[in-house]
Amino acid sequence: MSIIDHPAAGLGTLVRPGDPGWDRVRQAFNLLVDQQPEAVALPADEREVAAVIGWARERGLRVAAQATGHNAGPLGPLEGTVLLNTARLDALRIDAAARRVRVGAGVKWQRLLPELSGLGLAALHGSSPDVGVVGYSLGGGLGWLGRRHGLQCNAVTAIELVTADGSLIRTDEVHEPELFWALRGGGGSFGIVTAIEFTVLAVPELYAGALLFDAAQAGAVLRRWRDALPSFPDELTSWASVLHVPDVPFAPEPLRGRSLAILSGALLGDEAQGRELLAPLRELGPMMDSFAMVPPLALAELAMDPPEPLPYRTGHELLSGLDDATIDAAVALLAPGSPLGGLQLRHLGGALGRAGERAGARATLPGEIASFAFGLVVDEASAAAVPAALAQLAALFAPASAGAYPSFVEVPDRTSRFFDPSTWERLRSVKALYDPADTIRGNHHVAPSAR
Ligand SMILES: Cc1cc2nc3c(=O)[nH]c(=O)nc-3n(C[C@H](O)[C@H](O)[C@H](O)COP(=O)(O)OP(=O)(O)OC[C@H]3O[C@@H](n4cnc5c(N)ncnc54)[C@H](O)[C@@H]3O)c2cc1C
Repeated sequence: MSIIDHPAAGLGTLVRPGDPGWDRVRQAFNLLVDQQPEAVALPADEREVAAVIGWARERGLRVAAQATGHNAGPLGPLEGTVLLNTARLDALRIDAAARRVRVGAGVKWQRLLPELSGLGLAALHGSSPDVGVVGYSLGGGLGWLGRRHGLQCNAVTAIELVTADGSLIRTDEVHEPELFWALRGGGGSFGIVTAIEFTVLAVPELYAGALLFDAAQAGAVLRRWRDALPSFPDELTSWASVLHVPDVPFAPEPLRGRSLAILSGALLGDEAQGRELLAPLRELGPMMDSFAMVPPLALAELAMDPPEPLPYRTGHELLSGLDDATIDAAVALLAPGSPLGGLQLRHLGGALGRAGERAGARATLPGEIASFAFGLVVDEASAAAVPAALAQLAALFAPASAGAYPSFVEVPDRTSRFFDPSTWERLRSVKALYDPADTIRGNHHVAPSAR
């Protein structure tokens, strides 16, 4: 990358419109999001983070942290905002004996997971290893072990951040506890996080994989999965999906271009238990079955999430349940030839629905199922057809809506709707305490309460 250095100001690297490398540093994961900030800063340590915030404030600018740009859409237009890219804050330390991890704000799950897995450890990461650990953790963090162990934000034990006035703060349950509470699920509005620490789990292996069916069986698979959910223990987290695998090089060879119904899952248990639990699904005769005892690293690729930036639109809803009519209508909407690329339905409940005593702002997720749909936008026809199909799906799911999970919402939205009223007011009070001038911009922003 070509860079412009500003050592005199202590800012580290700052790239401005027209500078070499500009288009690269401003790129989001979703190629439809055209980020046009005032500048992109790439600080290498906390001191430079503080200098960037000071530099921005002197010019009346705001600052938004970004690691990978996986949830850039909700930020909206970036006039008057400096993007602070955290990629260079890349330190990583694993204390295997204590089952604790410390990562800098630029670390992605994909760097951490192989090391953890080699040590017989697993983290509460989500479906895509390309996502940043810090952004994922600040938003909540819904992953394959969630029904047994809850959201990743509540496994966080300490957070270091630079606040709007340039102070470097280390917060945990004892130090600045309100800030610690807000950061764990309240998102990126409270300061620029430079590092987090969290606990991980001893999981030498688990029973995980996927049953792949032809899309013609989607209705039967979704209904059978829905019927089986009450019998699934917290140790099993499963998804039912419909997926039109694109004919692109990063898709696994035998699946490229195929339309599938998929039952995927991870069981903290053994094969015999897994076989018994999945028997009703296996009876439907999958064409491929990859379930096996595997090391935790296998969870990183289970969802087959895209590793490269793409142009796409998404839709999401937390659902209290799914009746037959809704399943049938959703399957019809997702039939081969649909403008949508896929629909994922993730089983919630278990620990995801029980607030722990020490939980942060995102203690639980409501509902029984999290839905997430997407479609690639590659031409004029798909630019019109994908939003129309997503709107149809949203209308279909609306009667069963139990709310929304902000990390799955990829467009600007009203942040208050993601929290109950008292949590929302508490978040705004914390913001008022640490950033009364509203300098730091979160993607799903929390504005300060009037003081
Ligand atoms: C393909 C894909 C799969 C996903 N799978 C899952 C999943 O399984 N489970 C799940 O829970 N989520 C999932 N997500 C959502 C993901 O957790 C959010 O998009 C998350 O915000 C990504 O964090 P990031 O840092 O990678 O993205 P970024 O866009 O870089 O950051 C998102 C936001 O996080 C905040 N942030 C990031 N870094 C900092 C920092 N250092 N200081 C302060 N604020 C910061 C900012 O508000 C920023 O706008 C997925 C997203 C995608 C695109």
